[in-house]
Amino acid sequence: MYPAFVKIAAVGKYIQHILDEFSKNPTSGTFDNIINPKLCGNEKAEFFLPKIFIWCPITHYSLKLHCPEHNTVLEPALWTNLVETKSPRNPRLVYDLNGNVLLVQRFYFCRYGKHRYLSSSPEILRIIPNLYSAECFPIKVLYRSAFSKQAVDYVTSQVSQGVNFLQISEAIATLHFKDYCRRGNRYITSLLHENSHPLQHDFKAENFFNDALFAYPSNDLLMRIFLEDFQDKKVFYENELKKTTATILSFDHTFKMSKHIGIVRDNDAKFVGQFSNLFVGLNENKEIVTWCLTRSTKFEHIENNLKELKGRLDKAGVTARAIFVDDCCKVRGKYQSVFGAEQVVKLDLFHAVQRITSTVRIKGRKCLKSCQ
Ligand SMILES: [Zn+2]
Repeated sequence: MYPAFVKIAAVGKYIQHILDEFSKNPTSGTFDNIINPKLCGNEKAEFFLPKIFIWCPITHYSLKLHCPEHNTVLEPALWTNLVETKSPRNPRLVYDLNGNVLLVQRFYFCRYGKHRYLSSSPEILRIIPNLYSAECFPIKVLYRSAFSKQAVDYVTSQVSQGVNFLQISEAIATLHFKDYCRRGNRYITSLLHENSHPLQHDFKAENFFNDALFAYPSNDLLMRIFLEDFQDKKVFYENELKKTTATILSFDHTFKMSKHIGIVRDNDAKFVGQFSNLFVGLNENKEIVTWCLTRSTKFEHIENNLKELKGRLDKAGVTARAIFVDDCCKVRGKYQSVFGAEQVVKLDLFHAVQRITSTVRIKGRKCLKSCQ
């Protein structure tokens, strides 16, 4: 069994080595980014060191920061560099791809209020918005966990491709495992160089599952980071949506997606859905122009969205040439009440074909085909 304390001691020593380098030249560009470990050494533990990110904007960017509460100048104090005992000074594990990162940050002390902030706390990040928005801090910190922005990008891109959270969690685990085995190979190769017998190595791939530095996020946690990221970018999504206009509109309710939106009831752990439909409006380029979750297909649930869209089109000086819906005869008048009495409202192709296939028998369909 791989003794964990040997590795922990090696990690502590490695962090201290990087902090010594930082104190010699704190403004060095080396500390702009996450630092990858060297995959060499005399001990096995040295092949399994984590990536490190050192975050002390006061010294690295030569800033003068003031306490958000008392406006006194903050003084850089202790680092979160202790790994051998549980402490507020433990570095923070940051989920990343191909192995995790340890965030080593610093306490900033306010002499007036006799209190302190961690350098990655929201209070500090809020007073350095330019640096933060310029992606100088490559980590997204949640209440109990943290993700590298690269990992967040990976999660959001996978979700947009339709991959579910459990599969993303498994994919991240696989990337970690590949990195773990790659490091194991490097270690075994180094033994060969030392003329040791290669079969006598003590690397075991299954120890991956016990290594906290290679822990991977659960599907629930991935969902949380995805939602958190959405909240951060919500205003941009909304602004983008508001800029999108249309000359052709297509509206429909879908039922599948809304099934997955709900809560797990406390007393019997039963999943209770909150909505019955997702109403979506697309333009001629298949871009979403409006959407909302509804409890039924009643027009009153979507009327405000349509009015907002109509106002937006009017403002942009655009008139929709036609609107395609799933049940034109039933809802034409309602759509015209929002978009104008002259508005063309027709049945969309998908529902038209669906009506034909459900009405005309298979034998008849063959006739239809020959009539094309
Ligand atoms: Zn203060």
